Amino acid sequence: MNRCNSKVIVLLLVLAGIGALYATQPFWSTEPSTRSIETPDRPSTFDVTKYTVNLAINHQSHFISGSVLANVTAISSLSEIAYELTGGSLSVSEVRVNGVISPFTHLDGIIHIPVVMNSGESFSTLVTYSGIPGNSPAPYNIGMLFTTSSVYTLSNPDAGRYWWPSYDHPWDKALIDWNITVRSDWLVATNGIRTSITDNQDGTRTHHWTCASPVATYVMGFAAAAYVEFSQQSGAIPIQNFVLPSQLNNATIDFANVPEMISHFSQLFGAYPFEKYGHMVVNMSTYAAMEHQTMTTFGSQYLNGLQTYESIVAHELAHQWYGNYITPLTMNEVWLKECFATYSEALWVHHDEGWAAACDYIRTDIQQYYINWENNNGAQTIFNPAYNMMFAPPTYEKSASVLHMLRLKMGNENFFAFIRALVVNFHEGNLTTVEFISLAQQFSGLDLTQFFEQWIYSPGIPSVETSCFTKADPPQLRVYAKTSSPTATMFELDIPIRLTTATGIDSLMVTATAAGFINNIALSGTSSVENIEIDPHNWVLLRGKTNNVPILTECLSGNQAVVLSWQEYNNCNAYRVYRRTDSTGPWVQISASLSVTAYTDTDVVDGTLYQYAIKGIDPEGYESLLSNVMTAAPISFAFSHNLLVVDDTNDGSGIGISPTDQMVDDFYSDALTGYYYDNWDYASQGLLDINTLGNYRVVLWHDDDFSQHSIANNLSLLSGYIMGGGKLIISGWKTAYALDNAFLNRFAAGIDLLYDNGAALISAQSTAYPPLLLNPAKLSSSWNGKLPMVFTFAGATTPLYVADMTDGSNGNGQTLAFRQDNGGSLVLFGFPLYCMQTNEVRAMFAQLLPELNPMLPIADEPLPVIGMTAFPNPFTSNITLRIKQQSPAGAALSIYNVKGQLVRTLGSEVKSGQDISWDGKDDERHDVAAGIYFVRVNDDKKIVVKKILKW
Ligand SMILES: [Zn+2]
Repeated sequence: MNRCNSKVIVLLLVLAGIGALYATQPFWSTEPSTRSIETPDRPSTFDVTKYTVNLAINHQSHFISGSVLANVTAISSLSEIAYELTGGSLSVSEVRVNGVISPFTHLDGIIHIPVVMNSGESFSTLVTYSGIPGNSPAPYNIGMLFTTSSVYTLSNPDAGRYWWPSYDHPWDKALIDWNITVRSDWLVATNGIRTSITDNQDGTRTHHWTCASPVATYVMGFAAAAYVEFSQQSGAIPIQNFVLPSQLNNATIDFANVPEMISHFSQLFGAYPFEKYGHMVVNMSTYAAMEHQTMTTFGSQYLNGLQTYESIVAHELAHQWYGNYITPLTMNEVWLKECFATYSEALWVHHDEGWAAACDYIRTDIQQYYINWENNNGAQTIFNPAYNMMFAPPTYEKSASVLHMLRLKMGNENFFAFIRALVVNFHEGNLTTVEFISLAQQFSGLDLTQFFEQWIYSPGIPSVETSCFTKADPPQLRVYAKTSSPTATMFELDIPIRLTTATGIDSLMVTATAAGFINNIALSGTSSVENIEIDPHNWVLLRGKTNNVPILTECLSGNQAVVLSWQEYNNCNAYRVYRRTDSTGPWVQISASLSVTAYTDTDVVDGTLYQYAIKGIDPEGYESLLSNVMTAAPISFAFSHNLLVVDDTNDGSGIGISPTDQMVDDFYSDALTGYYYDNWDYASQGLLDINTLGNYRVVLWHDDDFSQHSIANNLSLLSGYIMGGGKLIISGWKTAYALDNAFLNRFAAGIDLLYDNGAALISAQSTAYPPLLLNPAKLSSSWNGKLPMVFTFAGATTPLYVADMTDGSNGNGQTLAFRQDNGGSLVLFGFPLYCMQTNEVRAMFAQLLPELNPMLPIADEPLPVIGMTAFPNPFTSNITLRIKQQSPAGAALSIYNVKGQLVRTLGSEVKSGQDISWDGKDDERHDVAAGIYFVRVNDDKKIVVKKILKW
């Protein structure tokens, strides 16, 4: 039986948008199974060697009548035998044993016939029956199926019993002769060779067919309709197709490659095993196709004259060897036939379209198709599927993936010898998984216990991670390879690796285990590995594959320095730092072997863009591949300006505890009375850059609201600023949440962050600074005059403030704000200053700011006024800029884009009142894109930024 073609349905939806016409039911059921498959080792006491089925079908009434003669051999002493016949109104009228009328019972779908025989004795039974057949219950709903213009049967896995009495199990294969009577204008197509057609002179004809090889009951079947035949030939094998006249043109095209397919598969699997092949085309709603022995039932919806569904043609043909000639002993082992049929789709693509197309088919139509299914349906085990999961993708695509991996493990020659030997050794008989494994081991000389244990008897799909190291003398490659799986299955895998070195490309096989496996491989010529690809041809069913390299986590542009840090990698005990300025140039090692995971490069030139990477060294001196690359452009910090206030506050409603941006701006304006400062509005001006930060002696970052923490995107930048001598003050509500581990490790090492969610803070107390009391007007009335969501910092060595909190709060008495000096200084408040009394905050700043930088002058003279106008704004081609300023010195005027990059320098000493026109071009006189730009004016005291918009 073919798999569900929901992927084909998707294709149809895309191509034609008429998918509903092809609404094929899935082959598997998402409903829990209420049935079980037949017991695999059900005692078999007799062997039917041949059936002769006489069956007359009234297509109008669906009434069938007939008899089944069975030639039987007793395998052990018998007192009775039993056949299955069930469903609809089918009833048995007479049973004869060796021609003599016999008693029988027909209960619960089983015909019990008393026979007394010794082991080895042969006898015959003749069961005469009639009625209207019913269909098997969900999820398969099959048996004998009537359409308005045809009748056909589907019996897989166990629905033969819904239309004829037989010993209906895959382990009892038998010869069969069919004598099927239908209306005289129809043809019957079925297993074997047609010997004759008898005209009964009553409006019906009887079609006689006979089989030369035993057939399992699930692949016995026929179709009857007003067919025409068209024949093909593959060597000595006749191919007999039955289609409706309207389907003939398409069928001729869609089956055109069948002779070549038989010839190709005969080379791969051994000679075609039966007397003929063919297709009977029916209008099926349930299945795409079904591999009835020597006569595949083919869904008419897959005939389109475009060979679109040739993979289905190949699949069913391959079943003639795998499934029909050698048959799984039970349906618990249905994978034994479907793995070959599904894999044969790819084998045909290889023959028809080439190896690259086959690799693509395996990845897309087999591996990825299965992974997607498992993601939606959960991991299933291939062996012994639930009754409702028998025809689900574990049986098809996963088991085909297993066969592909077995081929990788055994090698082409052994693999194809093995699958040919299966056909020879088990021909016309049955196969078990144990026998399959045993023969594979015999042909490969390998112990495949683990391989089949993980793939056939256990669920899941693994991922693999590798880490590669090299050593120069002699050239060596070391690959650490580790598997993981969301299931408990401990996968051990063979993984092909493609290696690109200075001397060429090489392919290697490595082992990956759940515990991690070290593969040591001697290289020839060079140890300079340029690239490593894991399984580039998709041999292995993998959920994910990652070739790990060391991870450089931080590369901070600082004050005439670049600060690097990285994660510990694999089991490395040393690291080396590499640098280059040309992104295609050679890497230069700039550090000795370091035992730590950080490095500061001070041998830098201002403004140069450097690339950095590292390598790890393992205890035996193997060197890893290069890490990811990070870049930095260090500058000399000017510290030419005083204070920058970064306003990261959400613009709230202004009601209750949600202040507007303007309300918070006004608070800081009051609290910083007397200081020259510039404002950076994060919402409109976006990310800062190190050039801007490095101009300021002190930066105050505030996000005094509950939700917005853009600071999380600026921590590397701010680290570089502090380490280069900058002084950073952070205040905000829950802002400590936004600080990452790298930042905390650097500036708050040894400090535990404690969080009090409830309204607990009463005041901030200090022996050195003015106390800070809450401003009740800014608090919610439900807080009873106290502030919730406060961070304290246990273990801080340089506290500024201590928390006065309600009893029982874990932060009570702990540090509420601290200062750490590390190159520059960080002052971190665990609460929003905005919620405190303004005059107390002002007094605090008056003491703190000069401590952070004594150069920070307090304005005792009127501030120089810098204002700016820009018109028209928005503009299309030209905008006129005019500044207002008291200082006679003039100011620099330039344009930045939203990324903070300098676009155009318009002047360095622009005077007050002077009109400057910008033509919307960059410094290279190219038109800039439409969008937001910032005009920046600065003198030695102040920077003003204005947003403009180019249409
Ligand atoms: Zn199949």
